[in-house]
Amino acid sequence: MTEALLDGAFPSAVDSENINDDTARPTVGFVSLGCPKNLVDSEVMMGLLDRAGAQMTTDVEAAEVLVVNTCSFIDAAKQESVDTILEMAQHKRTGRARRLIVAGCLVERYRDEIRKNIPEVDAVVGTGELEQILAAAGLHAPRPAVQEPSPFTILTGTPAARPEGELRESQGRFSRNAWDGADVHLPQYLYDHTTPRLLATKTASAYIKIAEGCDHPCSFCVIPNLRGKFRSRRFESVVAEAESLVAQGVREITLIGQDTTCYGEDLGFKDGLAQLLDRLAAIPDLKWLRFLYAYPNKITGRLLETMARRPNICRYLDVPLQHASGAVLKKMKRGANAEIFLNTLDKVRTVVPGIALRTSFIVGFPGETQEDFEALCDFVRGAKFDWLGVFGYSNEEGSRAFDLDGKVPARTVERRRRELMKIQQRISREAKENWIGRELDVLVEGESEETPLLWEGRSEFHAPEIDGKIYINDFGPLEELHPGRFYRCQITETHDYDVVARVIAASGEQA
Ligand code: SF4
Repeated sequence: MTEALLDGAFPSAVDSENINDDTARPTVGFVSLGCPKNLVDSEVMMGLLDRAGAQMTTDVEAAEVLVVNTCSFIDAAKQESVDTILEMAQHKRTGRARRLIVAGCLVERYRDEIRKNIPEVDAVVGTGELEQILAAAGLHAPRPAVQEPSPFTILTGTPAARPEGELRESQGRFSRNAWDGADVHLPQYLYDHTTPRLLATKTASAYIKIAEGCDHPCSFCVIPNLRGKFRSRRFESVVAEAESLVAQGVREITLIGQDTTCYGEDLGFKDGLAQLLDRLAAIPDLKWLRFLYAYPNKITGRLLETMARRPNICRYLDVPLQHASGAVLKKMKRGANAEIFLNTLDKVRTVVPGIALRTSFIVGFPGETQEDFEALCDFVRGAKFDWLGVFGYSNEEGSRAFDLDGKVPARTVERRRRELMKIQQRISREAKENWIGRELDVLVEGESEETPLLWEGRSEFHAPEIDGKIYINDFGPLEELHPGRFYRCQITETHDYDVVARVIAASGEQA
């Protein structure tokens, strides 16, 4: 399997005159694995490389420098990262590539091992040292141009940590002692609006990372050990970046972070995410604004009221709940239970009618009994989520859960995962049947990857990449569609997760 190289918003043509000139414009191919947070890191590194004179290419054969930005969230992600590094190493032996760089979460965890065990790797770049990508690629940072003083200059820099982060640090939350070869220093880096960035997302849509790191104590999770303490970007820096993206034609912005609902707590804001959404929603021409990764007990009345009041904030909430059994949630160090969650979901649906809800669960956490699992199934039947992801528990060294007794056999974990997905499949199919005849604004992303006979897009109820799709099989009154534009569509056919629509008209807003 060949991983696709990222297609940034840049010309991918290769300058053949300079192709063998070490000092001038090396061609760089980029593979980004894992979540959108990693994708933004890739976009920042591509922006830094581009500004320093590198040429980005989507052709792995043409790349002189190959970068793999890795994920090491769970075992399957680590395996995919290692497989991709080995695949790219092959190009170094047989093709034009002469430098292989490994970046991202895998580096934070196995820095020394990567270098020791994969000699083809020339350099590693951790999540907290993105600017090192230049030296790793054999480039120098360009001398900064003389600029007008920016009104935001004083607002950049690393904000102070939250008291929660300090407390968790004293409790050993961020310890990397279990990982041989990991750097002892936690990442502190966080980009800002002055950092160059090349977008790799599909037309008209972009992510903005508003915070990095996480101070929560979830016992199954090693992300805080990889990404460091929670830290928010400055309010004005996020606004400046959003305005700049919209000025470049972006019409959908998705705010991300490990926990977006903590946004601004380290800056002294109360309800920081609600304030930020309110400000961003006022940007003219921003058609859709959404955020991912809400923490359940941080969904405040003000946040919901802001979502309800602003028509361009998507009626969409992604709130990973992880489980619904109180006993399991306690061991996960997350707290709450099914009843508390149902009350929260009720409140969300009352304040923001019609909202689409997405969540994810972990099945097979150590000590999860059949009763715990059935409680989770009952909860899923009652909550009726629009979108649901289920992960089997992955035993991660360095997490608190690693040493817990009562590990669930792998076959049971997989059986529970399938069973829960089956329950959701029926819920989703029945819910989608009610979509027939519904009219929606659809952001068209282009021809379907499955067949050129269909086009595909998303509504405000679908986040990029993770939810079902809207397939368009009838252009209605229009001769052609354009990727990155909005169209008014009517749903004509439904499936388990995806729906089919026909175009009624071009929507008012155009990218
Ligand atoms: S909130 Fe998310 S990122 Fe933070 S520790 Fe829990 S699962 Fe990990």
